[in-house]
Amino acid sequence: DVRHGPILYLEDVSVSFDGFKAINNLNLTIDDGELRCIIGPNGAGKTTMMDIITGKTRPDTGSVWFGSRHNLLNMNEPEIARLGIGRKFQKPTVFEALSVFENLELAMAMDKGLWPTLRARLTTEVRERIDEVLATIGLVELRQRQAGILSHGQKQWLEIGMLLMQRPRLLLVDEPVAGMTEQEMERTAELLTGLAGRHSVVVVEHDMGFVRSIARTVTVLHQGQVLAEGSMDSVSSDPRVIDVYLGG
Ligand code: ADP
Repeated sequence: DVRHGPILYLEDVSVSFDGFKAINNLNLTIDDGELRCIIGPNGAGKTTMMDIITGKTRPDTGSVWFGSRHNLLNMNEPEIARLGIGRKFQKPTVFEALSVFENLELAMAMDKGLWPTLRARLTTEVRERIDEVLATIGLVELRQRQAGILSHGQKQWLEIGMLLMQRPRLLLVDEPVAGMTEQEMERTAELLTGLAGRHSVVVVEHDMGFVRSIARTVTVLHQGQVLAEGSMDSVSSDPRVIDVYLGG
């Protein structure tokens, strides 16, 4: 277990939309290197929480700290991204006409502002980083394949790879296994658990089998607050969690 204190800290965060409290005094701590799953019913505030962390939504009150020094409320979206917070939305958005390799190349260029002079600067270091990421996401053999003809799962892994090119400290991942086959889910579990330690990973996911397979700590959101937090066994046997989310 690689843990070195908090990397992300939300303190008493609230935000309302038209008088409705989507996030209501939320307190959340993510430790450096941990893999955290966030679950909760529709409308619990999961997406809004991710939007607050990435600077897309500004909370009405509270504070958000990253890496102990950075008050994210003083920063805009690009500044927060550059600090090392990467976000993967549910739908994969790869460059379909480009190869897997070129997608990773482009992801690197977008970070460093190298495009369009990238080819001249495709240094050994960049090539090595792409090779590393290809191995991490399991697409070494498919490096020359056009991204548009990859399977749904492979596109999701490629997009995670594109985020990894920028060496994020924290990865926010929204419903990674939606629409995946069992086999793709297993590989995604390996990928995400393999990233933890070197990165901190926050996963919002509805598939409880998948959550159980990857998470050490699960946070249950409900009405913009933390309803329960702990191991999958402890939260899934919590009567309040069963009542609002798992009961059916
Ligand atoms: P979850 O991701 O857990 O399903 P959301 O964060 O999307 O929950 O939504 C939390 C609540 O806030 C919902 O009731 C939703 O309708 C409301 N909400 C979210 N974003 C907005 C917005 N931009 N304007 C108005 N209401 C919003």
